[in-house]
Amino acid sequence: MTETEVPEDHPRHASLVTRHRIEAGVEKGITSKQGLIAEGRGEAFDYLLGERTLPSADDAARAAAATLLLADRPVISVNGNVAALAPGETVELAEAVGADLEVNLFNHTDERVRRIADHLREHGADDVKGLAGDGEIPGLEHARGVVDADGIEAADVVVVPLEDGDRAAALDAMGKTEIVIDLNPGSRSPRTADVPIVDNLLRAVPNVTAHARDLADASPAELERIAAEFDADAALDAAETAIRGGSFADEAPSDGGAGPA
Ligand code: ATP
Repeated sequence: MTETEVPEDHPRHASLVTRHRIEAGVEKGITSKQGLIAEGRGEAFDYLLGERTLPSADDAARAAAATLLLADRPVISVNGNVAALAPGETVELAEAVGADLEVNLFNHTDERVRRIADHLREHGADDVKGLAGDGEIPGLEHARGVVDADGIEAADVVVVPLEDGDRAAALDAMGKTEIVIDLNPGSRSPRTADVPIVDNLLRAVPNVTAHARDLADASPAELERIAAEFDADAALDAAETAIRGGSFADEAPSDGGAGPA
């Protein structure tokens, strides 16, 4: 079954489409096999969150949009999972907030960076950074710390969807304002972030774009107020509570589920 053959009314439509995209990403040489494992972990958390955007994640998306609009040099970091799952949406977000796109891989190879950059260009990106590799994130072993000097190294705000915890901590130590998209509120990256968006990348990226468009005419003072009022710890707690409370359980299946007749 290909992505387009997944029936729209299938109860797990979104997760099946996601799996197909990741599989296609691996086949195309843009997603690593490790990326398959990350996807499985994300899917489990999305299931526990009820596969929906929590109000706290929507607040985070709005704060992220405000933070990006206020930034001087915002950069969106793109890895193999992001490129496979939401290439067009990521390009649109970059355009909406005036951010650069930089390919940044945990398992770095020049070949894969090139493929991802080409893939982003096929989805409308003009300029993609990540190929120069002339900068570094201090405190990481060389291959994992390679970035562009005029990209992530010089950025004031970075969006790091699905970032690993060590790199999120190292970027934080560089003084970057970090916006992390990650479905696991207990993972180190969202816990390091200034703005953690605990939501599926597929929902979160277009949501930040929508908020950015909505805030396009907002004054700097208004944007600063939105960013300052966002409470990262409260957002993480809200996501954890939703998971522990089994947020999906209170939405009983309409077909009567497995309960007594
Ligand atoms: P950390 O080092 O921060 O503790 P980790 O080891 O838990 O991270 P990785 O395996 O490096 O995480 O990366 C996978 C992360 O990406 C997981 O936290 C997973 O929930 C998240 N993830 C996977 N797919 C998605 C997705 N589509 N949207 C949002 N988050 C996702």
